[in-house]
Amino acid sequence: MFDEKVKLVILLGAPGAGKGTQAERIAAKYNLKHLSTGDLLRAEIENSTELGKSAQAYMNVGKLVPDDVILKMVETYFSRHADCGILLDGFPRTIAQAEGLARFTVGRNILTLSIDVEADAVIERLSSRRSCKVCKKIYNLALPTYPPDERCECGGELYQRDDDKPETIRNRLAVYDAQTMPLIEFYRNQGFLHRIPGSGSPDDVWTKVQGAIG
Ligand code: ADP
Ligand code: ZN
Repeated sequence: MFDEKVKLVILLGAPGAGKGTQAERIAAKYNLKHLSTGDLLRAEIENSTELGKSAQAYMNVGKLVPDDVILKMVETYFSRHADCGILLDGFPRTIAQAEGLARFTVGRNILTLSIDVEADAVIERLSSRRSCKVCKKIYNLALPTYPPDERCECGGELYQRDDDKPETIRNRLAVYDAQTMPLIEFYRNQGFLHRIPGSGSPDDVWTKVQGAIG
């Protein structure tokens, strides 16, 4: 069933649920373009664009960037990749975004995965998360695999995101509960939602993800 039409995989889950890690693997195995709205926004900030400057104020306190800004950014991406399978990571995050998305994905074969984890686990994971400045790969300070020289395998420097500080993390989780959780119901009603427990190791979760995609 998940074959003929141009694919769209929507990955839902709280901040720190492990979306980014699974997203990389899904995109590689199923040959999908990986669209992370968080990464797009951070690139805008790094390039000091107008969009970046206005987005940064929201991101630093853990609030969502306004829907119209995000939708415009995503629509541009879809129009450039009309014939490609796409994996969405960090979008949609509100019902308004999901409704906007539906307008430019007509005819695509959609599959939604939600990676579910407990709030306590999320706070711990995010506080010890480090990201590569160059390739965006994610590492965890608390794992034995963390590189002692704080360098990514690509050579890039590892750093802690500004919004991975405890106060901001709490805000992001509250925003997730209030604004993004309702999407689980939204996609369940459309009949293509798979829920995946995200509590195991990245490899355990990856096995379940592949089982769900089929
Ligand atoms: P995480 O999922 O770990 O919170 P992201 O990189 O997806 O990390 O997002 C970081 C921040 O970027 C969010 O807290 C929010 O401010 C902003 N952002 C990313 N995607 C969206 C979106 N779809 N809608 C609104 N804001 C977004
Ligand atoms: Zn890297």
